[in-house]
Amino acid sequence: MSLSSAQAVRHAVLTATNSASRALQTRHFSWSLPRGKQRVVVLGSGWGGYNVLRGIDKKRWDVTVLSPNTYFNFTPLLASTAVGTLEFRCAVEPVRRYAPQVTYYQAWCDNIDFAKKELKCMPATRPVNAEPTMDADLHPLHERQNSFTLKYDKLIIAVGAYSQTFNVPGVKEHAHFLKDVKDARRIRSRILECFEQANQPFVSDIERRNLLNFCIVGGGPTGVEFSSELYDLLHSDIFKHYPNLARLTKITLYDVAPNILGSFDKSLRKYTEKTLSREGISILTSHHVDRVENGKMIVREQGEVPFGLLVWSTGLAPNPLVKELSRVQKDPKTSSLITNDHLNIIMEDGKPNTDVWAIGDAAKIEDAPLPATAQVANQKAKYLVRKINKLAKDQESPEPFKFENFGSLAYIGNWKAIYDRPTNGAEEGFMQKETGRIAWLLWRSAYFTMTLSIRNKILVPTYWFLNWIFGRDLTRF
Ligand SMILES: Cc1cc2nc3c(=O)[nH]c(=O)nc-3n(C[C@H](O)[C@H](O)[C@H](O)COP(=O)(O)OP(=O)(O)OC[C@H]3O[C@@H](n4cnc5c(N)ncnc54)[C@H](O)[C@@H]3O)c2cc1C
Repeated sequence: MSLSSAQAVRHAVLTATNSASRALQTRHFSWSLPRGKQRVVVLGSGWGGYNVLRGIDKKRWDVTVLSPNTYFNFTPLLASTAVGTLEFRCAVEPVRRYAPQVTYYQAWCDNIDFAKKELKCMPATRPVNAEPTMDADLHPLHERQNSFTLKYDKLIIAVGAYSQTFNVPGVKEHAHFLKDVKDARRIRSRILECFEQANQPFVSDIERRNLLNFCIVGGGPTGVEFSSELYDLLHSDIFKHYPNLARLTKITLYDVAPNILGSFDKSLRKYTEKTLSREGISILTSHHVDRVENGKMIVREQGEVPFGLLVWSTGLAPNPLVKELSRVQKDPKTSSLITNDHLNIIMEDGKPNTDVWAIGDAAKIEDAPLPATAQVANQKAKYLVRKINKLAKDQESPEPFKFENFGSLAYIGNWKAIYDRPTNGAEEGFMQKETGRIAWLLWRSAYFTMTLSIRNKILVPTYWFLNWIFGRDLTRF
């Protein structure tokens, strides 16, 4: 899980522009609502926000969604799109599918006034008079003058988290993150560019080796899955078309911890390490990246390591909006919003705010931490939909949120995966730990089943099949 370039740019300028933007003209949105309908504002269109949007009773609530992305990212398939196993559109769903029943603004929420029930928002689009050729994501925020405020009756905070860089210098500037479909597109383009650059006749063998050194930092599920998908791309397609470059190509997975996949059972970790190593992916655990520069990183145990592509995936950092919020309780370690088991945020006086809920990676239930996964965000969203739909009918829903662990899956390349479902003290039984092809079938069926729209339910297996028959598309545009 990681910080996209857009997020990196935003993060860097947010603090500097906060005071400037306050001075700029702020518009207030206060049109009248249909009689009896209260406004629910959903912040974010990820696993939490989008699933609330799908399920919420739009006839009884006036729903507004605010997100810088006009789409939902199906994150488990991003690594596959980054190497061309799937096309990018298979991993997104449009937010506007629900318009006009739902109002949508492509914008960031920069702050929340809980007392006034008001959101301070900043468009995520370029100013209307901006150069049409300029990338909206990279447009300086301080030039997006038209900040606006939005009132809410009920608020759902589902803004997720950013990528953790542990303040390693140069990561934001020189590494790729894998958090968003735009990141996946940049990675795919860079992989193909590395091969075309290395194939130029004037390039030396040393330069070729450097360009074809693919480094992944972070041995969690995202780092492992990306390394494995990259392995598949190289071995199934690229080496066929660039046979002279195969011997110069290397994939290395780094982690500062002594093991990769720390959240999985030990036997599955060992299986994965053995499988990846046998396939030629070097795993360098207990390695520390001290600095990243253009085309090289400085590793404490190795010295200078040149690379063509560096993918950085070392966990989560708090979303700047969550960081900015005051008068609410936050987890001292992760800075996530603390909620009660009904998912209401807790204010500084220790009382739950019954009009505001927080779900997904941005929130944590008090004294009951759960992993930052799509599974948790999805279940919290579904719980909240039931609750809020009952609320619209003036019905109570006294049951607290309960997480049901369906287990974790990770793809480890070459049509193999691992599956781990904690036993909670019970004896191990059927389908609790699986490896290899069976786990791979589970992996594919799980993500096919979870795919949301009928369109993507058709596209995903179609691309799996097409790429199996004809190979991945190696064009770069
Ligand atoms: C590559 C990858 C693979 C993954 N694979 C799996 C997997 O296989 N299984 C699993 O369970 N989990 C997986 N995860 C984790 C899972 O994606 C996250 O836990 C999940 O996305 C969290 O959902 P969320 O709604 O909290 O945040 P997100 O899905 O990150 O959504 C946050 C939303 O908020 C928006 N936003 C951000 N800031 C603001 C703001 N200031 N104002 C308004 N909107 C804002 C963002 O644009 C985005 O739309 C994966 C993650 C990644 C990156």
